[in-house]
Amino acid sequence: MNLSEIINGLNDKQGQAVILKDAKNALILAGAGSGKTRVLTRRIAYLVTQKDVHIDSILAVTFTNKAAFEMRERLSELLRRPIRSMWVGTFHGLAHRLLRAHAAEANLDAKFQILDAQDQARIIKRLMKANQIDESKYPPRKVQWFINGQKDEGRRPADIDPGYNYFIKQSVRVFELYEQHCKANDLIDFAELLLRSYELLKNNSELLSHYQRRFEHILVDEFQDTNTVQYKWIRLLWSKENQVFCVGDDDQSIYGWRGAKIENLHKLEVDFAPLKTIRLEQNYRSTGNILNASNALIANNTKRLGKSLWTDSGAGELIDIFESRTETDEADFVVSSIQKYINDGVFPDECAILYRSNAQSRAFEECFIKYNIPYIIYGGLRFFERAEIKDALGYLRLMENPADNVAFERIVNFPTRGIGNATVAIIRTFADENHTNLLQAASQILPTLPTRAANSLGGFIQLIEKMTNDSKHFTLSEKVAYLLEASGLIEHYENDKTDKTGGKKANLEELIAAAEQYNHEPDDNNKISETLGFISLASLDSAADGKAQINQNVQLMTIHAAKGLEFPYVFLVGMEEDLFPSRQSKDEPHLLDEERRLCYVGMTRAMQKLSLSFAIKRFLHGQSLYSYPSRFLGEIPSEFTNSIKQKFGATQKNYQEDDIFNQDFEPDEQGQLAIGAMVKHPKFGFGSVLNFEGTGESARVQIKFKKAGTKWLISAYANLEFV
Ligand code: ATP
Ligand code: MG
Repeated sequence: MNLSEIINGLNDKQGQAVILKDAKNALILAGAGSGKTRVLTRRIAYLVTQKDVHIDSILAVTFTNKAAFEMRERLSELLRRPIRSMWVGTFHGLAHRLLRAHAAEANLDAKFQILDAQDQARIIKRLMKANQIDESKYPPRKVQWFINGQKDEGRRPADIDPGYNYFIKQSVRVFELYEQHCKANDLIDFAELLLRSYELLKNNSELLSHYQRRFEHILVDEFQDTNTVQYKWIRLLWSKENQVFCVGDDDQSIYGWRGAKIENLHKLEVDFAPLKTIRLEQNYRSTGNILNASNALIANNTKRLGKSLWTDSGAGELIDIFESRTETDEADFVVSSIQKYINDGVFPDECAILYRSNAQSRAFEECFIKYNIPYIIYGGLRFFERAEIKDALGYLRLMENPADNVAFERIVNFPTRGIGNATVAIIRTFADENHTNLLQAASQILPTLPTRAANSLGGFIQLIEKMTNDSKHFTLSEKVAYLLEASGLIEHYENDKTDKTGGKKANLEELIAAAEQYNHEPDDNNKISETLGFISLASLDSAADGKAQINQNVQLMTIHAAKGLEFPYVFLVGMEEDLFPSRQSKDEPHLLDEERRLCYVGMTRAMQKLSLSFAIKRFLHGQSLYSYPSRFLGEIPSEFTNSIKQKFGATQKNYQEDDIFNQDFEPDEQGQLAIGAMVKHPKFGFGSVLNFEGTGESARVQIKFKKAGTKWLISAYANLEFV
């Protein structure tokens, strides 16, 4: 591959960034869709083919596993060879790889297991209970949040001064207990992966200089969302001899709530001097209307680094803003629109529905089933986080490693086999006192138990032994297939009445496929077994969810999960106050700014057509509430939009400002106010009901008057006449 192939399809600025020559670090600071990710990928190709940089000398950090997967594909296409061994992945994935390669130096057992957020929560809760820490005063969730937050900042219990704050004091205590527990059980949580791998390099100068020499080029995508430890990790790996190349966009920083520091972008200039900043200004993704609307929206944020983005792709279609009565109607509008696109030859996977919160997906799912359109939901519960999958992995883990206590706890009585909580508590105590693992402890206390308990527990121990022995020479997927039967899990889920669609059983079968597709890549001095590799992947991977099916499905995901992606047709739904922006963010300017950036990210995913929608009444989190259109809608200049309002009986209709007064609404049977009803007020004249809230004396009604504008009135005193 020659130079002209590499810079083919890049503009001057992009090309300049790709072949950046002088030994400087670089920051590519640019708005959405300006080709940052493309530049980063091409730069790697350039380094490898033109600068003879060895593939193993490159460290590339992406934001999701999906992005890492795509980057690998793209690169192996560009370089025309497989690049399996290359260090490209998420911060978590790379940290994990480092720790596996140097477990001993990191004070970890070679078989350490990754603890996901659910298991972490369970352990914290149990430790608090065992140490009589009052859950009502110190909610375990909050303590968990605290611990992870501290780790993201690079702090251990000894680094925290609680002062007079009781919550912090107790949380630090739990933090200590939790650390001991993880150490004793060879567990490592997500935040720990990062912190531990940072400490590993920091405290081990030989290892550090080895990696500093090895990684001649460090490239980071989505830099605006790095947290403190991630930043420090990169800073540590920079020896001044090697080069750091970051791309980012301050307007797309959306993980502040999880410890990401937008300031890291600003700090780069000082901490990584000399640093060359390159700005890209042409957007290649979206139409003019989509881009200009997004620019106008984000202009409402202060404290921006400021960028201008333009496109020469033409204005394109207007952005639809659809108002529906309920979330069900909203879903119907969106899905029927998608149906029309599909009839016109659009592929389902060219359409995406993006929402603020996972709970919103339900209404759409029902509609997709009704319309018989294939869809896939990303996020929510990831494949490997599903209960049935974790059950199966529990068996696999215990077969691989008898000391895996988390797995033991999960499956000892699942499927149920008559082992009660009391027995498990005895096992735990015995294990604690005798410094042994739960499976060992179980064998040892067996003779002391009453007959029935002893029989049940003995059965379990024998089962695990038998399964371990039987499957010794099986391949990974044979092992999985075998354990599903032998453990009784398949049978259990076959008889599970709550699983009406058989989805759980199907998922278990999918796990066999996942095991079969798993590519084990033993590399460096990394000696982990295939099974352990697979188990770790299961804990880390978020994109393994039905990779094969992606092509034919409409894509549903949160806006957070859509970062970096693009789709021809995007529906950004639930554009309502208290949902988007979220209620918690409304009184905090910095949170509100982050919500607005999130809206900007959502809008800029769209290439050809963007539709925004909101419902007047929404059932969410167990309640049905009236809502107001999101303020973000008001921040988009109307020249870029086309408003559509749902009409009774019809799904959609274009309407003009005044149309609303011409519709044939009637008050409902009890003479109650209905949305859309025409009324007359003694002073303000004719108007139409937009919204109402409250009941009885305090009921209020919002009316859009023809002449007097929109007003809220107390129903009881409004003296309204129905027209
Ligand atoms: P985001 O901020 O959303 O992550 P980005 O800046 O990383 O966006 P890319 O995803 O790299 O942008 O590029 C956006 C789209 O524009 C992609 O489809 C990409 O292939 C295309 N693109 C980028 N540069 C060019 C170019 N010079 N000519 C044509 N298409 C381009
Ligand atoms: Mg990108």
